[in-house]
Formats: sequence, C-alpha cells, structure tokens
Amino acid sequence: MGKGFFQVPVAVNEPIKSYAPGSPERESVLAAYKQLWNANTEVPLYINGKEVRTGNTSDIRPPHDHQKVVGTYYRAGKSEVQDAINSALAARKQWSQMSWEHRAGIFLKAAELIAGPYRDRINAATMINQSKTIFQAEIDAACELIDFLRFNVQFMTEIYEEQPESTSDAWNRLEYRPLEGFVYCISPFNFTAIAGNLPASAALMGNVCVWKPSDHQMLSAQIIVDIFREAGVPDGVINMVNADPVMMTDEVMTHPDFAGVHFTGSTSVFRSLWTKIGENINTYKTYPKIVGETGGKDFIMAHSSAVPKQVATAIARGAFEFQGQKCSAASRAYIPKSIWPEVEKHLRAAIDSFKMGSPEDMSNFITAVIHEGSFDKLESYINNAKQDTDAEVIIGGNCDKSKGWFVDPTVIVTTNPKYATMETELFGPVITIFVYEDDAYEATLKLVDETSEYALTGSIMGQDRYAVQQATKALENCAGNFYINDKCTGAVVGQQPFGGARASGTNDKAGSKLNLLRWVSPRMIKETFVTPTDYRYPFLGE
Ligand code: NAD
Repeated sequence: MGKGFFQVPVAVNEPIKSYAPGSPERESVLAAYKQLWNANTEVPLYINGKEVRTGNTSDIRPPHDHQKVVGTYYRAGKSEVQDAINSALAARKQWSQMSWEHRAGIFLKAAELIAGPYRDRINAATMINQSKTIFQAEIDAACELIDFLRFNVQFMTEIYEEQPESTSDAWNRLEYRPLEGFVYCISPFNFTAIAGNLPASAALMGNVCVWKPSDHQMLSAQIIVDIFREAGVPDGVINMVNADPVMMTDEVMTHPDFAGVHFTGSTSVFRSLWTKIGENINTYKTYPKIVGETGGKDFIMAHSSAVPKQVATAIARGAFEFQGQKCSAASRAYIPKSIWPEVEKHLRAAIDSFKMGSPEDMSNFITAVIHEGSFDKLESYINNAKQDTDAEVIIGGNCDKSKGWFVDPTVIVTTNPKYATMETELFGPVITIFVYEDDAYEATLKLVDETSEYALTGSIMGQDRYAVQQATKALENCAGNFYINDKCTGAVVGQQPFGGARASGTNDKAGSKLNLLRWVSPRMIKETFVTPTDYRYPFLGE
C-alpha cells in the first residue's frame, strides 16, 4: 500500500438515460449505431497488449439482419492460446505487486470512460451484435458495467479492511493475495456487462486473466478491450482470445498454473468445465477456484389475492424484454383460476401492443433472438406445443427467419405442470402458464419448488401477507434472487447481488464482496514483538 489509508469514492449506481424522442442521447446513440453498422469492424485477438490476426476468421452479423456483415473477428489456434497464458503469467509479477489504489484508479477510470466518451459506442455495439433495444443496451452495457466497476472497487477496500484481532505483543495481519496462477474467464453472449466484469473483477483483485468472449458478442467485446486499455490496464493482465471453446479449454485446463475459472453461461457447459478440472486435478499447482453462474427456469407465482394487471405486467416485462434471453427471465408462471381471465386479458393487450423489429427503430420493444440455433430450438418447442394435447399456444407462436431470427412473444398454457416447457430452459420469448385451482396454493408451491433443476430467480405476487410469507418459506431453496410483488428480472449491482444455486450455479453473487473473495488467497501474517527465548512454560515449574 502507498503512504496513506486511502478512501475510494462512495459507489453510486449510474443513472439510466431515457433515450426519449427528442433527447440528445437518442440522436448520438443512433449516430454511433450508423457508424458501426457501416464500419466493417475487425476484431483481432489481444495478447500481451498486441493485436493478433490469424488465418481463421468469422463474420459478425446482427441477429435482426443476418445477411448483413458488420465485421470480422479472428479466432486463435493452440499456439495463440498458449501465448495468452504465457503473457498473463509474465504480467503477473508486476501486476500482483501493484498497490491496490492504482488498480482501483484504473477500473474507476474505466467506469467513467463508459459513462462518458464510450457510452454510445458500447451501447450501439450491443444493439447491433446482440439485438438489444436501446433501453436494454443502456441498462446492461453502460449502467451495469459501470456499476460493477465502481462497486467492486468499494467492495475490494471493504475486504482489505477486514482484519483479525491483534494483541499488545502480536500484530495479526491478513493479506489478500491474488491467486497463484491465472484466471480463465468465459463469458456469455447476453450481457456485455458480464463480459467486462468476469475479467475485471478478477484483475481488480490482482489476478491476471485469459478471457474468452462469446462468438455472439465480439463487437462489444472489442470496445471493452479498448476501454480497459485506455484506462491503463497493463499489457498481459487481461488477454482477450476467441477460439474454439473446447480446444481452448483443453489448452487452458491442462496448464499447471490454471488457478480458477470465472464462468457465466449454460449449465451443461459449466458441468463440462467442472468435469475437466476434476480430470486434471493432479496437474495443478493449486486447487482452482470454480465460479459459475448458469441457467435458470425462473418463475412467477401468483396468489389469488394478486392484482391481475400487476401480474400481467410482471409477465410482459419479465418474460419478453430482450426476447427472454436473460438468465433471470420469467419462463413459467402459476396463476390461480379465479384471476386467470383478468390476467390473460391484460397480458394479451400488452403483447398485442408490442412492436418487433430492428433496435434501430426505437419504437420496437422486441427484436431478434441471438442465432439460428436458438431460433430453431424455440421453433421446435413451439411447434410441439401446437401439437401436444396437454398444451396450447394462446398468444404468438410464429417464427420467421427470412431477415432476422424473429420469434413472436409466445404464451403457452398447459394442463400438465411438468410439461417440457415448464422444465427446460428455452432462453427465448416463450412463457408457459399453469392455471391452478385457488385452493391448491400449498400444493402448487411444492410444484414450483420441485419442477425444475434450476434455482435462479422467482417471484411471488399477492396482497395477502400470510400467503406471501408462506411462499417465501416454501420457495426458500428454489431461487437465489427472490422477488415479492415484482417481476423476477432486473437485479441492480449494489442492491440485489445476483446468483442462484442448484443447477443455476455456485451462487457467488456477481457484483458483491462474495464474488471478489473467490479471487483471493489470503495470507495470515503474525508478527511477534518479544520473541520467546525459552521453551519452558510456567506449568513445567517445580
Ligand atoms: P453458452 O454456455 O452457450 O456459452 C457461454 C460461453 O461458454 C461462451 O463464451 C461459449 O463460447 C463458451 N462455451 C461453449 N461451449 C463451451 C465448452 N464446451 N467449453 C468451454 N466453453 C464453452 O451460453 P450462452 O448461450 O452464451 O448464454 C446463455 C446461457 O447463459 C443461459 O443458459 C443463461 O441462463 C446463462 N446465463 C446465466 C447468468 C447467471 O448469472 N446465472 C447470466 C447470463 C447468462
């Protein structure tokens, strides 16, 4: 540490801009969108601060217009993956010794760069590459990433302040060392903020990283790299490498200095990573930290005392914003028979008013799903629901891939609470509803708890406080983020630390102290002032 007990700025959430018609931010983000749309961007690998280009490239295409190529990204082979690991390990010595206030300064600067000069570009890239509306891009790429960076700096200092008791003759100090080795960060397509936070949180605590972004987020991944570089992250500390995920993971996870994985993505991939770590456990110098935030089958449970319009709004927003491609998106709902007709009426009215199309047209509430694989999966589940006798598609159900990967916001009603779409994560704009008898509340709570393998988010809606209390208790283990009278999405850094258990992840709560603690290996230092010179204790006396 430097010469002083420094205090970092108190973290505050970044205010969300409105982008209302006529606002200056609307015009400037649309200008950035146009510029990036026509820029034919090249995204190289970034290894040891150098741009690396290989012979292996892929196109970047907007999901809402899949014939348009907006850029190219380069993919690594084995040797570039090894270069990235070596570059991280070479940077480790200096970075891990850097005083914390300098690390804090770098990431606080990154936050302000996003809040100011990079805001339009990172939002526009997220709109183009991930098909987010401007509002969804703003709350993710700008605000959430800024919040992660600001709050993590504050959490870091809170961790460092946690020290053991000392006595007059011994001073006890806890030193929060970074991990001995490098951290492998693997990010999903759906949140630009998560892509930035996975390496930044580990690096903030003094670690070096090899970061593999998703193929479907490369445009905004490059802007994250630009921001980190301008903020002063030294060469080699965060190496960004896109490659075939299996090849890359094999290279990384057979390396003796592999010290941890920071993953967000699907449950099946995370399980394969954990298996691979187990297979290679004798190779490593240290037991790797394994952090994974994974899938969900998130629910809205309504009690008969719930206000129907509130329930319908929670479903409309919770299930369909960003086309249901949030790990927290509501994808199953349990509605009592007595209020279902009213809920259905309001839900229908809301969905009828949704407009779908390109995010450049800001009147659109819904855009495309991420890629053809996702489109095909959604279409096949929807087609099955049209055939199956225990399910009915009551709203939406059309899929059109002629221009973009467009799937109508779809509502399925089932008479079978264990129907496939009540259990399986589809990751798209589809919600399945089970209508239950009002007097089966307790049994339905049990169903909610037992229906899926996941435990990420969920909400209870109702005015009857006894019923709310009963649900809060009965659903204790089936959601890591539980909401009362709200939709089950929209966690804010610093307010609702995010993560779930069971098949949904290790629940290390991104954007909290709990997550940062995974990236340190504390060293206890006891310093004795008057060191004994005789082994004999008084009890040994004659
Ligand atoms: P994904 O699992 O397909 O991909 C995530 C990352 O893993 C990508 O970078 C991908 O290239 C990589 N990957 C794919 N196969 C791999 C392999 N065999 N070995 C190593 N890496 C591999 O997920 P996605 O489609 O990008 O994102 C959607 C999923 O992420 C959903 O399941 C969603 O619930 C989950 N998610 C969870 C959270 C959370 O906080 N719990 C947040 C966002 C997304």
